[in-house]
Amino acid sequence: MGLKKRSPIWHPFTQHALQDEMIKIVRGDGAYLYTSDGHRIVDAISSWWVVTHGHCHPHIVSAIQEQAGKLNQIIFAGYSHDPAEEVAALLLKLAPRGLDHVFFSDGGSGSVEVALKMALGYWHNIGKQRIRIVVMQHSYHGDTVGAMSVGARGVFNVAYGPLLFDVTSVPFPASGREQATLDALESVCRNEIPAAFIVEPLVLGAGGMLMYPAWVLKEMKRICEASEVLFIADEVMTGWGRTGSLFACEQADITPDIVCYSKGITGGALPLAVTLCRGDIFDAHYSKDRTRTFFHSSSYAANPVACAAAKANLDLWQDSASRDRLASVATMQEQAIEPFRTDPRFANVRRTGTITALDLGAGDTGYLATIGPKLQAFFEARNLLLRPLGNTIYVMPPYCIAASDLDDIYTGIREAADALI
Ligand SMILES: *Cc1c(COP(=O)(O)O)cnc(C)c1O
Repeated sequence: MGLKKRSPIWHPFTQHALQDEMIKIVRGDGAYLYTSDGHRIVDAISSWWVVTHGHCHPHIVSAIQEQAGKLNQIIFAGYSHDPAEEVAALLLKLAPRGLDHVFFSDGGSGSVEVALKMALGYWHNIGKQRIRIVVMQHSYHGDTVGAMSVGARGVFNVAYGPLLFDVTSVPFPASGREQATLDALESVCRNEIPAAFIVEPLVLGAGGMLMYPAWVLKEMKRICEASEVLFIADEVMTGWGRTGSLFACEQADITPDIVCYSKGITGGALPLAVTLCRGDIFDAHYSKDRTRTFFHSSSYAANPVACAAAKANLDLWQDSASRDRLASVATMQEQAIEPFRTDPRFANVRRTGTITALDLGAGDTGYLATIGPKLQAFFEARNLLLRPLGNTIYVMPPYCIAASDLDDIYTGIREAADALI
């Protein structure tokens, strides 16, 4: 087989030599995407985990339209605007209690870089030598150099290895082996006196939709606190309802020292991210001494139109209907995944909140598992947007998904197994 056509657009995470013509999407509505040649696709992964209430939600669309004609960009140093201030106030109200400040950026990776810089800046400014970052095995925190450094090493970043900084990793708390993770974290916190521990709460996304229970999250926070290690929660994916609560940390009843939100923060309409922190981290930078300034910005930080979309999203979350919807999606997801628990072709059939995942048995595993592209082609032919992580299939729908569409998704998954193994 020859190579596929070169493409003037270099798409993300795409091997163009193996890529067929891209599917062109012209319109999105709720859980559906419409192609230029008239097909309707069910978006089973919320367009890479960002769309929460559905594509083109009318409340968010009208907020964007209104703001776009009023003020669509302004420097955010020395200047402020209502959409940012409203978003910040609502975030501080909805996020775990004890977070006092909001720093805006434009994407998840950026929000992680900000979190790491806040942590290092904190220790530097209070005059303590703490620089090491502790991470969890299989984590993903983004694709910029700092975010890659704290993420799992592998095929994604082997070429950039020399640029990445050293971290200490604790094992993933797999079922039955949670104590090993806690012991490792305790030992690292005691012996290495690290600056911070960064972790995806409850679900490790790109690392394979790996799930662990809230009590482990709570214990990890307690261990960090005992050694004054800053606890950074990367809720870029888990935030905005995915795990069944608005934020995953709520389920462990913890307040991280620093937390990152992005993806669903605008309901999936526009790029935006925030990093929230506790007062003492801000205070370590709060001084008449200008060298203690937090030296970070991005050109579009707190873009007013993106903030208006986030404000509209926050409005929706203040309505109990959105929370009720989460519960019903979780129930539908559980019913749909249940039969797979006894299907021997699948392993690790799991669910946390609105996210389900299952590993297709047989053959190689990992992100480059040979079954991956075959699965994807199979789903594409059935007008399902699913994008397995190697042999791990997961379903992370927008919350407006209909039961009948979930049926189609799981029928597709069952038939993929029938056809391919
Ligand atoms: C997607 C993701 C990121 C990176 O976000 P981008 O907006 O793609 O830069 C960081 N952390 C987690 C947990 C993610 O899922």
